[in-house]
Amino acid sequence: MSTENVLVTGGSGFLGQRLSIIKPNWTYISSKDCDLTVAKQVAELYGDLKPDAVVHLAARVGGIKDNIENQADFFHINTMMNTNVVHEAHKANIVRVLSSLSTCAFPENLSYFPFTEEDFFSGPPTETNFSYGMTKRMLHVASCAYRSQYSRNYSTFCPSNIYGPNDHFGAETSHFVAALVHKVHSASEGDTISLWGTGLPLRQQLYVDDLCRIIPMLLEEHNTDKPIIVAPPENLSILEMSRTLIEQSGKNVRTLFNGNMDGQFRKDGSNAQMSKLIGAFKFTKFKDGILKTYNWYSENHNV
Ligand code: NAP
Repeated sequence: MSTENVLVTGGSGFLGQRLSIIKPNWTYISSKDCDLTVAKQVAELYGDLKPDAVVHLAARVGGIKDNIENQADFFHINTMMNTNVVHEAHKANIVRVLSSLSTCAFPENLSYFPFTEEDFFSGPPTETNFSYGMTKRMLHVASCAYRSQYSRNYSTFCPSNIYGPNDHFGAETSHFVAALVHKVHSASEGDTISLWGTGLPLRQQLYVDDLCRIIPMLLEEHNTDKPIIVAPPENLSILEMSRTLIEQSGKNVRTLFNGNMDGQFRKDGSNAQMSKLIGAFKFTKFKDGILKTYNWYSENHNV
């Protein structure tokens, strides 16, 4: 299969912007080019561009608070987009669609870690992103359905939390690492910064450019019905990550955890299946990725 003429949805987003640096010859679209919730616009987009393959990154994405307060928006927008991207691709005879899910879609109450692709449907996702998680599960169901009924190579992957340059720093909807980078950068020497939760939960943080190098490999190699987990081996506590960032920033800043809204205690996934498909991948260590991220933010934002 030729994968030169690749269309990427979500091109203006955090991940899409970084992917466009690594794969500049692919075509990147945002909601301004096409509202993916409208089937007719998706059909016209595919008709105009005639892509060999679609990398579907577009989604309504947000942090815990945003997810809890806007469940209906997460459900409606993501369900409409995912259905249109996959169904219209089939109608346009596009043989390859690779879609991004999230490890947030995995069950909350597993009794062992790391979980694997086989655990994907073995319990409900956490309540704090139930709606978002279920739409990601249905995107996987859709991909498997067209694979099964029409022999399409539609497949999915599940990144863990992603961080890095171009993330949504400081926004109300930002994820933990981006919010932390913003807070540490804005803090004055000797300040105490206030953080949500207890600091105890463990998270795998995936450096964005690692994922951008992995996506083209998955596009070539991932012809399976498994929601391939893309996650680094490091599984660090929020407290450890905060300390690492503060150390790397060189600032004298302390943290105070407010004890609220921790989310799942741990949710680490195994990258063994991914390694089987694309070979061993050398992930960026958190201490190196966070330094690059902090430096990028310092250069691109005024305090
Ligand atoms: P993001 O920065 O919020 O970007 C979302 C993208 O989706 C934007 O390009 C946005 O376009 C597009 N979009 C939203 N609604 C649209 C619509 N109606 N029609 C067309 N495009 C629309 O998200 P991200 O962080 O890059 O996430 C990319 C993918 O990775 C998502 O599938 C997400 O679920 C997955 N993921 C992300 C993380 C993470 O930590 N960020 C972790 C795991 C998985 P506009 O700019 O025009 O609105």
